[in-house]
Amino acid sequence: MAPSQSFQVTIAGGGLGGLTAALSLRQKGLRVTVLEAASELGEVGAGIQTAPNASRILIGLGLRAQLERIHTEPQDQVRRRWADGSIIAQLPLAQRVVDTYGAPYWHYHRADLHRVLLDACLDPDGPGPVVDVHTDAKVVEIDRADPSRPVAVTARGARFDGDVLVGADGIRSAVRDLAGFDDTLVFSGEMAYRALIPGEMIVADPATRFLADRYHSTIWYGPDKHLVHYMIRGGEYLNVVAIVPCTPDVERNWSGPASAEELAAEYPDWDDRVPAMLSKAKDDVSVWALYRRRRDPVWVDGRVALLGDACHAMLPYQAQGASQAMEDGAVLAEELGAAGRDGVDAALARYVDRRAKHAGMVQDASWANMDFYHLPDGPEQRERDAKLRRFDGESDVSYDWLWRGSPLRDPDNEALTYQFAR
Ligand SMILES: Cc1cc2nc3c(=O)[nH]c(=O)nc-3n(C[C@H](O)[C@H](O)[C@H](O)COP(=O)(O)OP(=O)(O)OC[C@H]3O[C@@H](n4cnc5c(N)ncnc54)[C@H](O)[C@@H]3O)c2cc1C
Repeated sequence: MAPSQSFQVTIAGGGLGGLTAALSLRQKGLRVTVLEAASELGEVGAGIQTAPNASRILIGLGLRAQLERIHTEPQDQVRRRWADGSIIAQLPLAQRVVDTYGAPYWHYHRADLHRVLLDACLDPDGPGPVVDVHTDAKVVEIDRADPSRPVAVTARGARFDGDVLVGADGIRSAVRDLAGFDDTLVFSGEMAYRALIPGEMIVADPATRFLADRYHSTIWYGPDKHLVHYMIRGGEYLNVVAIVPCTPDVERNWSGPASAEELAAEYPDWDDRVPAMLSKAKDDVSVWALYRRRRDPVWVDGRVALLGDACHAMLPYQAQGASQAMEDGAVLAEELGAAGRDGVDAALARYVDRRAKHAGMVQDASWANMDFYHLPDGPEQRERDAKLRRFDGESDVSYDWLWRGSPLRDPDNEALTYQFAR
C-alpha cells in the first residue's frame, strides 16, 4: 500500500472546484469525503468555458469521452464594439488552440460538466477509492482539538474527521471564516446578468441568426458595460453574461431573479443586435452582484487548506475562476498523493507555493480587466482596441502563460497525447 493511501481528506463544498479536487485525490489513492451544504448536488443554469489550462486537467483525469459528449467548441474568439457591433478583433480557437496548447477551448452547460465530475467521483470502476459524497451537510464548525485531525461538523451535528480539511465552499466560504483566515472579500460595484436564450429563437430571427451560423466566444466592449455570449449544448442555448454597474438592491441581496426586459433595457443604445438578442431570454434570467477576494497567499492554516473561490474568488473577466480551482485540485492531489503521513504539512506548503502566486496573478488580471473592458470611447479605448487586436493577452497576463496553466509534475498521458489523437 502506498503511504498516501492512508490519508483521509474531507472537502467542504461539492462545486466544480471541490469535485475536481475530489476526483484528482481519489485517483492518487486518497480517501475523500465531500460535504455539500445543498440538498442536491448541481450547478446554476448557466454556461461555462474551460480554456486549455482547465481542459487539460479534465482530460488528464480521464474525462475526455464524457466531455466530448457535452461540449460545444467555439471556432473563434470575437471582440466587438458596442456601438455598431463592428469586429475589433477575431482569433481562431478550435484546432489552433489544440495545436498550440495541447488541449481544447470548450464550452458547456455547467450542470453537464458538474454531472461528469460527480459521476467520475462515484464510479465504482474508476481508479482509487470511490468518493464519499454527502448532501445536506453544511459545515458550521471545525473542531481542531487534535490539530492533526481537523473535524468538520455539519449543521445536523455529524462529525467528519480527516488528515486534511479542504475548504472548497465558494466565495463566502464558511471554512475560511471558521479557521480564522483574513476577511478578503471586496465588492466590485458591478453585477452580472445570466441568461440562457433558446438557440431556436436565435436562429429564427434574421438579426441574430449569425450567432448560430458559426460558434464564437464573443465579447462586446462598451462604456461601463460589457457582454459575453457563446452557444452551449450544441446550439440548444446561447449563454449570456451581461456585466453592468450594480444596483443597491442587488448589492444587498447578492443575487436574485431578473427579466429579459430588464436585461435588454441595460443596453438601449448598443448595436440593435444586442437588444434583439437579449430580449429573447426566457424566465430564467438572474442577476448576481460581483464580489471578489483580495489577493492573499495564505491558503493553509495547520491541516485546513483552501481551494477555488474560497481563497481566490476573482471577477469573471478572464473566465478563469473555476479553471483556476481545477488547477488547485490537480496540484493539491499531486502534492498529497506523493506525501507520506509525516509529509502532509510540507505537501500543503508546496501546494500553496505552486498555486497562490499563479492564481493571484489571474485574480489581479481579472480585476484589471474591469477598467480595461469598460473604457469610454476616446484615446484610451483606441489604444485598448489596438492591444486587443494583437491578442497577446488583455490586462497583465498573456494568454500564452494563462492557457499553459500551472505545470504539473505528473501530467497524464491522455492529456499530453490529446493533440495527436484528434
Ligand atoms: C457570471 C460568471 C461567469 C463565470 N464564467 C466562468 C467561466 O467561463 N470559466 C471559469 O473557469 N470560471 C467562471 N466563473 C467563475 C466560477 O463560476 C467560479 O470561480 C467557480 O464556480 C468556483 O468554484 P468553487 O468550487 O470554488 O466554488 P462554488 O462553485 O461556489 O462551489 C462551492 C460549493 O460549496 C457549497 N457550500 C457553501 N458553503 C458550504 C458549507 N458551509 N458547507 C458545505 N458546502 C458548502 C456550495 O453549495 C457549493 O456547492 C464565472 C463566474 C461568474 C459569476
